[in-house]
Amino acid sequence: MVHQHLIANFKMNLLDSEIRNYVSQLSQSDVLKKPRPVHLKIGLAPSSPYLLSCQAQLSKTSSTLDLYAQNISQATQGAHTGEVSAQQMRDCGAQGSIIGHSERRSLHHETPEILVQKMEALNQFKMRAIYCLGEETTDLSDQNLDQLLKEQVDILRDFPSTQLIIAYEPKWAIGTGREAEPQHIHRVSTYIRQHLVNLYGQERALNIPLLYGGSVNAKNLSPILDLENINGALVGSASLDLDHFIALIELFINANL
Ligand code: PEP
Repeated sequence: MVHQHLIANFKMNLLDSEIRNYVSQLSQSDVLKKPRPVHLKIGLAPSSPYLLSCQAQLSKTSSTLDLYAQNISQATQGAHTGEVSAQQMRDCGAQGSIIGHSERRSLHHETPEILVQKMEALNQFKMRAIYCLGEETTDLSDQNLDQLLKEQVDILRDFPSTQLIIAYEPKWAIGTGREAEPQHIHRVSTYIRQHLVNLYGQERALNIPLLYGGSVNAKNLSPILDLENINGALVGSASLDLDHFIALIELFINANL
């Protein structure tokens, strides 16, 4: 059965005490104390200096939350001042990393070649990739959008499908308060799924979780989760408020029971 994921991307927000508080209250919340089916995964991607304290907090409360890095270096070790390798992130508790987020593609000029190297680094340490893709503007023709998505999916070719989560995140919807319409998400996610079938074959492709991200909140999450090819959400701004994230977890669990 395909896993369903709800993952919070804190981006460059929150300090150690705030994160510890957040994780401790989240771990003790009623919604997480109740047993849930094993295919429903909830994850957090804090800034890398706080992975260790998140991990410590989670093991104190025996919480079953996944931890992710927001980024890794494409190099695996050595003279790369200021970078953090996949293996170091894993050592600090990350099961995987977000890769190809639109903020990294645009602000840090990450090219497809760099993303392939990062995927290889994750693969070398048996880590999961939350691979983000999507268009920058709303004015692409269907044909150009499909071509762009195809190119973005094609670089996954050598990455094991069992370690892959894909997040469709149109850049124009990220942090703008302007989420994509369910019909648009449906069209794009159906195209991505079909292309994954071409790449990996039907059985493996159907087991790759495909998330939506871009201004998700408690008002718009449910219709998005109802879409046939969507298996969860990657949430930025709305995850920073713990009560809001708990409301999203409740909607997520109820939608997938
Ligand atoms: C993100 O940055 O991955 C994201 C989805 O952000 P937001 O929810 O704030 O649009």
